[in-house]
Amino acid sequence: MDFKKIKYQKIGDILIVKKNLNDNEIDYLVNKTKCKTIVKYNTYITGDLRTPKIKILHGSETETINKEHGCLFKIDVSKIMWSMGNLEERKRISTLSNSEEIVVDMFAGIGYFTIPIAKYSNPKTIYALELNPDSYYYLSENIKLNKLDNVVPILGDNRDFSLKNVADRISMGYVLKTHKFLDKAFEILKRDGGVIHYHETVHENILESRPIERLKYHSEKNGYKLDEYKINKIKKYSPGVWHIVVDAEFSKI
Ligand code: SAM
Repeated sequence: MDFKKIKYQKIGDILIVKKNLNDNEIDYLVNKTKCKTIVKYNTYITGDLRTPKIKILHGSETETINKEHGCLFKIDVSKIMWSMGNLEERKRISTLSNSEEIVVDMFAGIGYFTIPIAKYSNPKTIYALELNPDSYYYLSENIKLNKLDNVVPILGDNRDFSLKNVADRISMGYVLKTHKFLDKAFEILKRDGGVIHYHETVHENILESRPIERLKYHSEKNGYKLDEYKINKIKKYSPGVWHIVVDAEFSKI
């Protein structure tokens, strides 16, 4: 066995692997990375709450602090997903806002986008909405850990968020059925218009068309028009399918 070929992701001092490892492989990885725990993710992460199914192969502690792009993220890998594939997007989005803006992160998780935006763009306020109590707990921890005073974490379904026409910018970092939340996003967007970062998983054959059709349909339905957009590829999601994010700018009709 060529140990160097073992694939893993390092989150803080915890390793995530996708296959079972034998004792020699575990010893090799522990020596090489000085990790405290090795966790195997059993299945793809599913469900609205994005909860992983795991097996611990080494150690016992599943909470760690991951440092990325100058931000600290406390996370329990047994309860919450961490997507390495979104690293470049977390960096990219971090400087797009500014000190004049109100931002709403409709799917905040532990603060994957909220924390870097709050730190590097320093908007007036970011409302960070999160449904999963475990993620909300770590979101609140991460706000403290990064010493941020411009983030308002809110536990609950984003469809129950009561502020209307407040956001200059909305992050919709969710996949598979993000379009179902677009009407709510337009309710939250400022009446004059603003920017929505709209994520979608989409087959490459319709990558240029479907997300834009959906954005046009829902914006017009809600009295907005799509002025400008740019489609950014984040990562391959499955064969032929991309996780993309559209930076979409709207104004009122
Ligand atoms: N953007 C993250 C990244 O870079 O890895 C991934 C966030 S994760 C895919 C989506 C988050 O949205 C989860 O934490 C989930 O609990 C939350 N969520 C799902 N439905 C929601 C809803 N209706 N309201 C608020 N949060 C929701």
